[in-house]
Amino acid sequence: MKIIDGKMVSAQVKESVKAETAELIEKNGIVPGLAVVIVGDDPASRVYVNNKKKACELVGFKSEEYALPAETTQDELLELVHKLNDKEDINGILVQLPLPAHLDDKAVIEAIRPDKDVDAFHAVNVGKIMLGEYDFLPCTPAGVMEMLHAYEISVSGKNCVVIGRSNIVGKPMAMLLLHENGTVTICHSRTKNLAEICSQADILVAAVGKPKFVTADMVKDGAVVIDVGMDRDENGKLCGDVDFENVKDKCSYITPVPGGVGPMTISTLMKNTLKACKLQNNLK
Ligand code: NAP
Repeated sequence: MKIIDGKMVSAQVKESVKAETAELIEKNGIVPGLAVVIVGDDPASRVYVNNKKKACELVGFKSEEYALPAETTQDELLELVHKLNDKEDINGILVQLPLPAHLDDKAVIEAIRPDKDVDAFHAVNVGKIMLGEYDFLPCTPAGVMEMLHAYEISVSGKNCVVIGRSNIVGKPMAMLLLHENGTVTICHSRTKNLAEICSQADILVAAVGKPKFVTADMVKDGAVVIDVGMDRDENGKLCGDVDFENVKDKCSYITPVPGGVGPMTISTLMKNTLKACKLQNNLK
């Protein structure tokens, strides 16, 4: 069994973004800029936003944070998005989700200019991903693919099972595995015989949001297990959707939580922002 080291792969991706950014600054005098918008004071969102800012600093981007109070209105938030759409030194806009309940996530995402939508949640970008002709990929599923590539794990012809069908993780994850010629099954809360389906998987991706949901009987010997979950166990400790201790010895490869998929999400965001900057400046 090999543990897939997301921290290491993420650090490599960030190093390469940093090198390309330095070149962009030197040759073209352009500094990629990312704006992060956070509404309210959700502690998990605050941690994610701080990590994104730190990553921007590391790779040499300009980052702007817009921290708005929880009572911000939809119109105020949309006005900010429109302002950022027009701001030339901002190439990527990220609105940290979830938003407070009175705000409409969908309308806010749709207001972001698609070429600045570095999360790849806008309908235009989602459509491009379906067609396989995309500029950006959503950060978490793309981070998973990057890890598979880093460990030379081939997807082609493999039985891939994704548990979860959210727009942010499950659905695009399935699409990216399909693009690489996996035979993909998507499972969800209404799936019958879930354990049996999972136990056929050569590559099993868990994006359920339930601590230690994937147990050893659901995993085929030699499977690659990717754990997207960021959950809390009975003691409040961070854990994944996979019962790591009992599953790990059955796997050929497995991602830990923390230190697996999580760090990859941020490094993909850096890659997307750099790409957005290049596209907006007509550079390759
Ligand atoms: P979500 O929107 O809540 O979706 C969860 C999915 O799991 C749904 O499709 C749901 O099915 C399915 N599900 C729930 N209970 C199930 C069951 N008993 N059997 C089979 N399927 C079941 O969550 P998400 O946003 O995709 O996130 C999933 C997990 O990934 C969470 O732990 C989240 O914190 C984590 N996450 C991590 C990162 C990262 O950077 N590492 C990024 C994003 C999310 P239905 O559609 O039928 O309800």
